Amino acid sequence: MRDIFNNHSYTFAHRSTKELKQLVRLFRLLSNPRISKFGIQLMKRFGHIQLPGIQHLQRWLFRPFYAGISLQACESTVVSLSKYGVHSYLNYAIEDSSTESEFDTNCAMVKKLIIHAGKTNNVPFSVCKPTSFGHKHLFQKINAKQSLNAEEQIAWNRIMNRFRSCCQTAQEHGVALLVDAEEYSMQIATDQLVLDLMREFNISKAVLYNTVQLYLVDGNHRLQQMHNLATKEGFYLGLKLVRGAYMEKERKITQKYGLSSPICASKSETDISFNAAVYYCVKHLANIAIVLGSHNEDSVSQALQLMDRYEIAHNDHRIWFSQLLGMSDHMSFILANKGYNVVKFVPFGPMDKLVPYLARRAEENTAIAGQTTKELELLLKELKRRTTTTKEL
Ligand SMILES: Cc1cc2nc3c(=O)[nH]c(=O)nc-3n(C[C@H](O)[C@H](O)[C@H](O)COP(=O)(O)OP(=O)(O)OC[C@H]3O[C@@H](n4cnc5c(N)ncnc54)[C@H](O)[C@@H]3O)c2cc1C
Repeated sequence: MRDIFNNHSYTFAHRSTKELKQLVRLFRLLSNPRISKFGIQLMKRFGHIQLPGIQHLQRWLFRPFYAGISLQACESTVVSLSKYGVHSYLNYAIEDSSTESEFDTNCAMVKKLIIHAGKTNNVPFSVCKPTSFGHKHLFQKINAKQSLNAEEQIAWNRIMNRFRSCCQTAQEHGVALLVDAEEYSMQIATDQLVLDLMREFNISKAVLYNTVQLYLVDGNHRLQQMHNLATKEGFYLGLKLVRGAYMEKERKITQKYGLSSPICASKSETDISFNAAVYYCVKHLANIAIVLGSHNEDSVSQALQLMDRYEIAHNDHRIWFSQLLGMSDHMSFILANKGYNVVKFVPFGPMDKLVPYLARRAEENTAIAGQTTKELELLLKELKRRTTTTKEL
């Protein structure tokens, strides 16, 4: 089944030759650990500075990973992906909001994106991040079972209202809403909040999806607890399954406070945990719907095998595969070509807001063993194929 990812004939169909050449230069740069590390640190530190030279460099460096600065600018990416059966979900880059008016603005943006998604078949999902709707410390207090004072309770109610109004908009416009997972210290509070809303909105299908990070030791346990609740109370459980993106941050927190790590002791344990979660969900599709957010070929291949074994149609609406724009594009295109549901995470926004997200992606791409080299190999192969085909014509 893993062989499925060896056929690359349509992998870069959405990219022009000029774009491919640009990508080759970029991935050559990223494959040099010293240069890429230095470049990423530079961007993180000075990314917010709006000098034309810096902005030009940023746009070039990060071009494969974002769709543009405005919603209109995303349109061409969404349309070009859709030509190959790949859907999109749009994410307006928001980092570090701290005031009530910023949280309201973020909520209005999520609703705007949901309404926009509802107008097309190419954008079946929208997404939101808990800390874009309220202060992290409120989630952390609830997580730690500490009671909120009167002022905090009012702020927490505002968070719930922001979530609820986004769910209502999603339901009205026929779009599913994914809630991202962030730091472990706020996850139980997020689970509770999202489950409460699932009871309300996931009555006839999954409108709202929670995210489970399977690098967490308790990831599968919490998943099964959520499923038991959904079964008992008769609602659909929507889940985005991911390995988890906050490993370094979690390590720093546990070291600082002398806590035991919530994260699996090794990559292979995380892999086992992730694959177990996929297996569990595929077996319980009667009331679970999943978005499998991964670039890992083994995990995705195992999911495909399970779908075969349980005779689940490739385009069953309860299973979606998702990759980030500019990462493992070959997987997205191959899966879509075979008729599976695929949705790309497509970020956009002003460059200074995107930089922290994009720097994480570039870091991730260089950190994932062999990922950059693999992307580079695929790009060179495709460029060679195009040159040969042009010569033959
Ligand atoms: C569509 C989509 C949505 C996402 N949404 C979220 C989200 O809401 N929240 C979030 O946190 N992340 C999210 N991610 C990121 C995701 O959690 C992973 O960081 C990323 O996808 C890499 O994992 P992988 O399965 O693609 O690839 P792989 O290369 O197989 O796995 C890399 C991952 O394995 C884990 N890992 C690596 N080394 C170790 C180790 N030594 N010990 C234990 N575990 C290790 C880490 O999670 C690392 O990111 C999302 C990813 C996608 C594609």
